[in-house]
Amino acid sequence: MIPFLNLKKINAQYAQELKAAVSRVIDSGWYITGEEVTAFEQKFAAYCGVRHCIGVSNGLDALKLILRAYEIGPGDEVIVPSNTYIASILAISEVGATPILIEPNMVSYNIEPSLIETKITSSTKAILIVHLYGSVAEMNPILEIAKKHQLKVIEDAAQAHGAIYNGKKTGNLGDAAGFSFYPGKNLGALGDAGAITTNDDNLAEKLIALRNYGSHKKYENLYKGYNHRLDEMQAALLQVKLPYLDEDNEKRRVIANKYLEEIENPFIVLPEKPTNAGQSVWHVFVIRTKERDRLQTYLLDNGIQTVIHYPIPPHKQEAYIEMKEESFPISEQIHQEILSIPISPVQTNEETTEIIRVLNNFR
Ligand SMILES: *Cc1c(COP(=O)(O)O)cnc(C)c1O
Repeated sequence: MIPFLNLKKINAQYAQELKAAVSRVIDSGWYITGEEVTAFEQKFAAYCGVRHCIGVSNGLDALKLILRAYEIGPGDEVIVPSNTYIASILAISEVGATPILIEPNMVSYNIEPSLIETKITSSTKAILIVHLYGSVAEMNPILEIAKKHQLKVIEDAAQAHGAIYNGKKTGNLGDAAGFSFYPGKNLGALGDAGAITTNDDNLAEKLIALRNYGSHKKYENLYKGYNHRLDEMQAALLQVKLPYLDEDNEKRRVIANKYLEEIENPFIVLPEKPTNAGQSVWHVFVIRTKERDRLQTYLLDNGIQTVIHYPIPPHKQEAYIEMKEESFPISEQIHQEILSIPISPVQTNEETTEIIRVLNNFR
């Protein structure tokens, strides 16, 4: 069986360094917001090319904290793609604001910039863009619209660590960005973890308090904050893996390019070929077919595990019953037709070749 994602094999590559990091934290006697968190924040800020990184508990909390720090809440609207992981939208709901969904582009699967302005009202405060599947959203028109209407641009970069647009990394493309280091992401911790990146000094200062009960000074609370801290253990483990991120992303690119060149099947639509090498970090490789369920079964019968990202669009979820009557046909079609095939830094050449062979034989 070719697994969709072999986390054990991924982390085994760094086992010795990871174990040393765990020992270092155990022996330090300091487990919450200490030297490891500060060191990781400095390294990740430098990696993204931004002034500030604030380590937090996970990707959802990162997005929520950004919205809270910008004082976006009840009565405010936030624009967000309809084709995304539910967490992008949950963050908006959690602060009490209203998510305004925008259809994706059928080729890039990311938000369609030309549709954004039709949904801007006097209540719109921000555009929360998502670099879905590891591919950077089309930022130039989005930034122009945001500037014209004085909106914040928040990146959901949970699937796009290290992706590049116009020479800049994700995390440095808007006003602030939320990252997730969930174990399966391109940069994965060994538990829950996340981060916020920004060049906004005031925002960074406020976020440091908001993640820690709203407090800069112990027992003095400036804001009604949260406990959304990154812990020392995950920060130490992430420091082991960060130096390998670019190399790992490159391995994903090699596999993606092979797929793009060698998968040839009239029933299968391949993802868009990036216009420049850094534009996608291939968090997942998403193919599309009218025969999705049959293809998934066929692949499994041939020893290839796949995943659907995602089977139910956010507006069709029970949790968003208030959107039930809204129609997002492009998003719905994507959800019905997509299938993610295996891609990871530890996938062997033989596995990639086998996946291509099996896909090309699908009829
Ligand atoms: C994983 C993910 C999140 C949430 O991250 P967690 O760390 O699991 O909270 C948010 N947005 C997107 C697009 C994601 O893929």
